[in-house]
Amino acid sequence: AELPGDTETINTRRQVYNACYSKVLPTPVKRPTLVAYAREVAEFLQLSPELCCSEAFVQVFSGNQLLPDMQPHATCYGGHQFGSWAGQLGDGRAINLGDVVNQQGQRWTLQLKGAGPTPYSRTADGLAVLRSSIREFLCSEAMHHLGVPTTRALSVIATGEYVVRDMFYDGNPKAEPGAIVCRVAPSFTRFGHFQILTARKDLTLLKRLLDYTIATDFAELKLDLSSETAYLDWFAEVCQRTAAMIVHWQRVGFVHGVMNTDNMSILGLTIDYGPYGWLENYDLNWTPNTTDAGERRYRYGNQPAIAFWNLAQLANAIYPLLGEERLAELQATLDTYKRAYEQGWQVMMVDKLGLGMFNGENDMTLCTDLIELLQAVETDMTIFFRRLALIPLHADASDELLIEPLLDAYYVKEQLDTAYLTQLYAWLRQYQTRLKASDQPLEQRRQRMNAVNPKYVLRNYLAQLAIDKAEQGDYRLVNELLEVLRRPYDEQAEQETYAAKRPDWARQRAGCSMLSCSS
Ligand code: AMP
Ligand code: MG
Ligand code: MG
Repeated sequence: AELPGDTETINTRRQVYNACYSKVLPTPVKRPTLVAYAREVAEFLQLSPELCCSEAFVQVFSGNQLLPDMQPHATCYGGHQFGSWAGQLGDGRAINLGDVVNQQGQRWTLQLKGAGPTPYSRTADGLAVLRSSIREFLCSEAMHHLGVPTTRALSVIATGEYVVRDMFYDGNPKAEPGAIVCRVAPSFTRFGHFQILTARKDLTLLKRLLDYTIATDFAELKLDLSSETAYLDWFAEVCQRTAAMIVHWQRVGFVHGVMNTDNMSILGLTIDYGPYGWLENYDLNWTPNTTDAGERRYRYGNQPAIAFWNLAQLANAIYPLLGEERLAELQATLDTYKRAYEQGWQVMMVDKLGLGMFNGENDMTLCTDLIELLQAVETDMTIFFRRLALIPLHADASDELLIEPLLDAYYVKEQLDTAYLTQLYAWLRQYQTRLKASDQPLEQRRQRMNAVNPKYVLRNYLAQLAIDKAEQGDYRLVNELLEVLRRPYDEQAEQETYAAKRPDWARQRAGCSMLSCSS
């Protein structure tokens, strides 16, 4: 299609009716330079390493140059933010360049984040800062390598321009270097894409979008769109995928931070990396998002319930296409999320603990007792589970020997008082007995545990160290972290420092624990 040349006109901020997207051109930037690219993503897009390091690459993925078949557009969606309907949101700083189909027949959408204003930018500038771009780039790739469903990132490019942000460091405006990430996913469709059409009673377009989504993004389900149950079957699949994604988040200790319905992918991918964070000390109440510090709606322990709430909003959005006679079925389908999550959680816990099969009530008690213990004193989640594979199994091992491998996981040694240790030893003895009953060869159990309990995650302070360097123009740490996070389950002898728990200086430093939405 032909693109109007006047970007001023087509980029005007507005309510966009009767349309799912608007054509929009990226805003050119001054001096784009490559910070990093992900070689696996380049590979499935069939871009060679030479090409990724070329000037042409930087020009295209900074939005400075369009390739002949690109049709840049921003999409229209709405959403519930912190539980309230927010109306039209849309791609305020994301511009889709188009879809590519690779040799394997996979279709990938390329999306620039931070490439300038769109009709959906509302009061904001359409730009992104280097800080949050590095956070998205590193985290989405780290999540992928951890086995968590996620959007991917091809590249992060510094624009050579400055962007003003005011909420982060001390409430005063601060000019920060700008950047653009190229995100990649089979589809960026969100719950909110459906919600906005229902809210506007545009049922014709709602049906077109749903039919398109089922035919394009869920082709492998081979659903017959003329069948009475096609929409319910599709919704059931979205519930299953969402449950699977949340189980993974809980497994690795990822806290999204802004689970608004506009940040929920229809494909069950982790999407929109903003003020996310990683659990350091295990705490069901923790949220990285300062904007949510009061209500803590999006705290770690609430993510499963919020995903259900969000799915209920999606159910509301498609309800007009189903009608009252299918309401009971829609409700029943929504409820399948709860079972899928519960079952997924049990399997996940059993895997983390290396128990073999989930053994009813006894294992449930073992898990809930452990969760109590982990929260009783500051315990690093990642280190604790990783080291659990190392505790000795012979019953005559002393208490001291039993706890030895775990000692590194504790942040405050003084908290390990007699009362706590007595409980911990009791739990470890029970665990020891349970492991013996599971009758697995030691090495096999350790391997299984190590395959679900990562050694390396993107600890909040590590991302911040890489950002500090990058803001001075040194991108080596970004690239080194990317390299380490490619193999999160492997022991990497040279890289032990990246597996260390948060140092004391990082406890209160901005960016190392809590972040605001304004990233
Ligand atoms: P988020 O909290 O990142 O999910 O963003 C919510 C909405 O605000 C989405 O519509 C975003 O596209 C939009 N938004 C966030 N930051 C910006 C920005 N700097 N410029 C324009 N729109 C933005
Ligand atoms: Mg968003
Ligand atoms: Mg965002």
